[in-house]
Amino acid sequence: MDCVFCGIIEGGIPSNKVFENDRVVAFRDIQPAAPVHILIIPKKHIPTMNDVTSEDDALMAELFAAARQIAGELGIAESGYRLVNNVNGDGGQVVYHLHLHLLGGTKLKGLN
Ligand code: C5P
Repeated sequence: MDCVFCGIIEGGIPSNKVFENDRVVAFRDIQPAAPVHILIIPKKHIPTMNDVTSEDDALMAELFAAARQIAGELGIAESGYRLVNNVNGDGGQVVYHLHLHLLGGTKLKGLN
């Protein structure tokens, strides 16, 4: 399987990790779109949100739990942040391994 995020999980591709447990990894985006830009991914290879099933309910909850924890540890929980999941072409997805973008550290523009 040729997946850059699976390579990061396995350690063959370098990354700046900020969180890891048996099921979830989070690391700094190499092209940050905000002062804080973290990618939170499941270790299970799930290509897109469309491929998530009810079997993944607990895993999805763990992604959000990791986001809460990381936001707190990086000091942006109170100032605020945004969680983004891009899906397929119109959503702007480039890497087909499910991930949440955790963005913060500045007043984010757009969407409202
Ligand atoms: O949601 P999307 O698929 O567009 O986002 C993929 C993200 O993965 C990009 O923000 C890109 O900078 C990041 N990336 C990374 N490290 C890599 C490859 C991609 O942080 N080795």
